[in-house]
Amino acid sequence: MIAIDTHVDIPFDFGPPAYDMMLPAPGQQVHIPTMIEGGLDVPFLIVYMGQGERTVAGRAKATAEAFTKFAAIRKVTDELNTDKIELALTAADVRRIIGSGKKAVVIGMENGFSMGTDIRLLDIFHANGARYFGFVHNGHNDLADSAQPSQPRKEPAAEHNGLSPLGKQVVERLNQLGLMADISHASMKTALDVLALSKAPIIASHSSVKSVYDHARNLSDEVLDALKRNGGVVQIVAFDPYLRAVPREKTEATAALRKTLGMQGGDTSKLSPGQLQAYQTEMANIESRWPKAGVSHLADHIDYAVKRIGVDHVGISSDFNGGGGITGWNNAAETINVTLELVRRGYTEEQIAKIWGGNLLRVMEQVEAYAKRAPRRR
Ligand SMILES: [Zn+2]
Repeated sequence: MIAIDTHVDIPFDFGPPAYDMMLPAPGQQVHIPTMIEGGLDVPFLIVYMGQGERTVAGRAKATAEAFTKFAAIRKVTDELNTDKIELALTAADVRRIIGSGKKAVVIGMENGFSMGTDIRLLDIFHANGARYFGFVHNGHNDLADSAQPSQPRKEPAAEHNGLSPLGKQVVERLNQLGLMADISHASMKTALDVLALSKAPIIASHSSVKSVYDHARNLSDEVLDALKRNGGVVQIVAFDPYLRAVPREKTEATAALRKTLGMQGGDTSKLSPGQLQAYQTEMANIESRWPKAGVSHLADHIDYAVKRIGVDHVGISSDFNGGGGITGWNNAAETINVTLELVRRGYTEEQIAKIWGGNLLRVMEQVEAYAKRAPRRR
């Protein structure tokens, strides 16, 4: 069995001294020793950026930030920890690296804002190691509508009514390159557009299901059914607010804390070291008063998805370092608890192997195979 987590965020200063993969530190949820302890084999490390201004300067900044993160990940995998981890570019790489006793890292991208309006960048991202590409984050961009329009920007529910014409070209190019298309954070119409256009299976890299808990970020039954027909996989995410209703008092206390520190959402990247420490201490107080959802909540979403679309189309993700983590699976060392819950719920070893990584690797292989035979215009 290969345990794959398709969504682990990294900060811009990923790598030592700020984030040493060999030295577990508070507020950082994935390290090599904790992966070994908990049995997590493959984190997808994410080239993420928030949705910024859709101006020439805003787009250029996003592209520059994307390359900063690629470089940080590649430094960690290619130069600093080469005896422990290795970057995987294919599903076969993942199997070979795990077979050799090391851990494998795959790169995913979150928010197509990083390419601005220049589709040629997709080739460069792919060459730098990206193996999945999410169209949007919170707020619409030049490619697609988001599940969560920006409130500060007063965005309407839909801007393009799904994918923009450029977003549609992006689906075709992703298929040609062998990059998995990711519908997490996409609006329902965007997700259905991607599913209708993609010639290869797609993923939802970190989403849960609307029928268990009605949240804008969760997938509807209609999207789940289309995902099954497409042959894709939904990676159910251990993100507390998507799993169940968070107590209102907790939401208010968290928002008040973030406001005092001038934060945008849960983004800690702009905090000074002192502010970060204050934030983490106060968040720990808030968490102890109102604990997060547990592994059983996560398993409820997995159960529902398995019943609805079958065990071949369901996987797992954490969103660690990006607000993810729940009671019982709050860092890589606790990964075994998710496996134990699945065993407790009667899943067989074969089913658990599919959910923990087999399905994702199958999709990755099919995406690679399609790219080899895809028609190309240039
Ligand atoms: Zn996300």
